[in-house]
Amino acid sequence: MTNGLTRTVLIIGGGTSGNTLTVLLRRAGITVDLVEASPDWKAAAGSGITLQGNALRVLREVGVLDGIEKDGYAADGVAILTPGGTVIYAHDELRTGGEDLPAHIGMQRPGLQQLLIAEVRLGTTATAFEQDGDGVDVTFSDGSSRRYDLVVGADGLHSATRDMIGITERPEPTGMGIWRAPAPRPAGVSRTEMMYGGRCFIAGYCPTSEDTVYAYLVERARDRASLDPDAYADEMRALSEGYGGVWEEIRTAFTDPKAVNYAYFDQLLVEGPWHRGRVVLVGDAVHCCPPTLAQGAAMSLEDVLVLAELLTGHDDWDDQLLTDYRARRLPRVRLVVEASVQIGRWLLDRAPDQERGKDVAALMGRTMNALKELP
Ligand SMILES: Cc1cc2nc3c(=O)[nH]c(=O)nc-3n(C[C@H](O)[C@H](O)[C@H](O)COP(=O)(O)OP(=O)(O)OC[C@H]3O[C@@H](n4cnc5c(N)ncnc54)[C@H](O)[C@@H]3O)c2cc1C
Repeated sequence: MTNGLTRTVLIIGGGTSGNTLTVLLRRAGITVDLVEASPDWKAAAGSGITLQGNALRVLREVGVLDGIEKDGYAADGVAILTPGGTVIYAHDELRTGGEDLPAHIGMQRPGLQQLLIAEVRLGTTATAFEQDGDGVDVTFSDGSSRRYDLVVGADGLHSATRDMIGITERPEPTGMGIWRAPAPRPAGVSRTEMMYGGRCFIAGYCPTSEDTVYAYLVERARDRASLDPDAYADEMRALSEGYGGVWEEIRTAFTDPKAVNYAYFDQLLVEGPWHRGRVVLVGDAVHCCPPTLAQGAAMSLEDVLVLAELLTGHDDWDDQLLTDYRARRLPRVRLVVEASVQIGRWLLDRAPDQERGKDVAALMGRTMNALKELP
């Protein structure tokens, strides 16, 4: 295929998976062009993120773990509480990335983006593909064009690449929405804690540094048209009323509506092939789930680790290789999507609080234990 020439890959989308794949392939001597639709990369990153152990395992491979440990907050587990603050379940040592990595690290998304930053053409999208057996001719939104050995669609939930290659599955709403905002870290909060029940389905917080947490409230999805962005901080304060413990302190931080983010929970699992010819999809473009297990970015990172391993380990970048990639990922991704969606359904069904907490804890434990296996 390459006749001794350096191989070329186009990666569309500079989010978690696109950046990581760029680093992994460039390190192996592959020429990578990375295009990102957003003209302002930092803004695209938004809010806080929980990086579970299996995500940290990939990020260590990429070489950014030291930076993540420095910027973020390594936590020793997760707990589910009642709205009043009584612990229903706590898990201290669920280390999905192996015993030498923390259970999870919370950090601000822009910080992660900064660590992963790869040379990128901002404000650019691919507008057309023309494929033959050996490669893809790509036309870009600025009118330029170039031929690649492979194109990777890492353009997230509403992937245009997915549309362009004719994969028709679309993300579906799960009926839940989430309010998120940063707040100072209350003394004594050293793990992710989620209160189940009360006015919201979940009222949670995750340390993102020595000084900060990101706080979130999950409720039934609302019509965006009915929301006033200038009242976002008031909404978060009102929704958090009735949650005890450190929420008394956290809610006082919700004063700036611009610091509050509102998002829907969606679900998607593309069961059929994840490629057409030499265009292949990774991450949210082919699977997403409510972040009830905080595993979306972890699954996306594992996708690109496996794809990079196959691309750098084999000379033939053929149909079989891309079929093998999906076959290796699908069972594990399905496990996460189904468990995350199930937890969401229990929340929507409003099962009695204690029972729900125990069911969630059991499913969470089973799923996270399975993820200790290497991808
Ligand atoms: C509310 C919420 C909370 C979450 N919390 C967690 C968590 O705590 N832990 C966790 O592991 N996961 C979490 N996730 C999931 C996680 O955010 C995603 O799974 C992950 O970001 C997917 O990475 P990605 O690179 O595939 O897509 P994205 O990160 O969405 O990146 C896609 C990129 O492509 C760009 N793009 C889009 N269209 C085009 C185009 N046509 N051309 C070029 N570029 C384009 C976008 O601007 C973006 O930069 C959460 C998700 C949500 C919704």
